[in-house]
Amino acid sequence: MIVAMQEKATEEQIDIVIDAMVDSGVNVHRTTGATQTILAAVGPTAGLDLGKFELLPGVLYVHRITAPYKLAGRAFRPEGTVVEFANGAKIGGNQIAVIAGPCAIEDREQIFTIAACVKAAGASFMRGGAFKPRSSPYAFQGLGIPGLELMYEAAQANGLMTVSEVMEISQIEAMMPFVDCFQVGARNMQNFNLLRELGQVRKPVLLKRGIAATIEEMLLSSEYILSGGNYDVILCERGIRTYETSTRNTMDIAAIPVVKKLSHLPIVGDPSHGTGRRDMVSPMAKAAVAAGADAILVEIHPNPDKAASDGAQTLRLEQFEKLMGELRVIAPAVGRTL
Ligand code: PEP
Ligand code: MN
Repeated sequence: MIVAMQEKATEEQIDIVIDAMVDSGVNVHRTTGATQTILAAVGPTAGLDLGKFELLPGVLYVHRITAPYKLAGRAFRPEGTVVEFANGAKIGGNQIAVIAGPCAIEDREQIFTIAACVKAAGASFMRGGAFKPRSSPYAFQGLGIPGLELMYEAAQANGLMTVSEVMEISQIEAMMPFVDCFQVGARNMQNFNLLRELGQVRKPVLLKRGIAATIEEMLLSSEYILSGGNYDVILCERGIRTYETSTRNTMDIAAIPVVKKLSHLPIVGDPSHGTGRRDMVSPMAKAAVAAGADAILVEIHPNPDKAASDGAQTLRLEQFEKLMGELRVIAPAVGRTL
């Protein structure tokens, strides 16, 4: 952390700032220039509240130099994290993974048809929500554990790994036998108690970016899981809320290279929630791969117009197959395989 003092700051004001910095547990290196004094904090700066120093008399601005997250930072694992699953599939590394499935698990026929399609298309992961965070309490809320049993059976029959959203701590144990990866949804990205609990779990966690979260906030949320000892965290860009109304959310493609630069954690692109529109899912999936995403998450359904949730952004099975073919062309162009 750097504290730049105003040109007119008095010695007394400078001393007060130095004392406050020392009280916060850091060492202070003072540089006295011809017109301005700069105070650099060295030591444990991650937990410092910058605002506290900004308000002190004589301070011009306060700037953070080291990231407030440690375990999620690129420097912690410069080579990048590769999350490995029981069937040998990986997220991170050179090969791009594909996670596909319905927004919500609906019935046996639906989930078995989708599992066969995911397998045939060459993807390794299937998704399906059983606990659905719906904007309206009157909308379909998901089948719960019986739904997960169905998805697990369908996934097993096709050698696929399962990803499903956990909404609260009490669901973790019951979900454990049926999911290979816990998804934390956008609405729960800052449910810190849930994140801490998932830090104790020994299964990968797919952490989605909050609807109004900055990339730094997403990385700080991942830190809650990592600091519990669970290093298998996968981040997900799923669009953020902006003033643009043409799409359901604004898919922040730039977040992908930004995360790659700041963190060692794999990053997934979710063009389904990112756009909310079926006709825009494939273009944005391709953009995400071109931008360096480690995986793509897409919602697919045999009959999206009849889907219990998120039908408008859900690809038909043949659209998904076509997309897979296109991604196989793009991946090698950016030095990856699929
Ligand atoms: C989902 O994946 O179906 C979902 C609800 O995602 P998000 O949390 O990104 O809205
Ligand atoms: Mn959905």
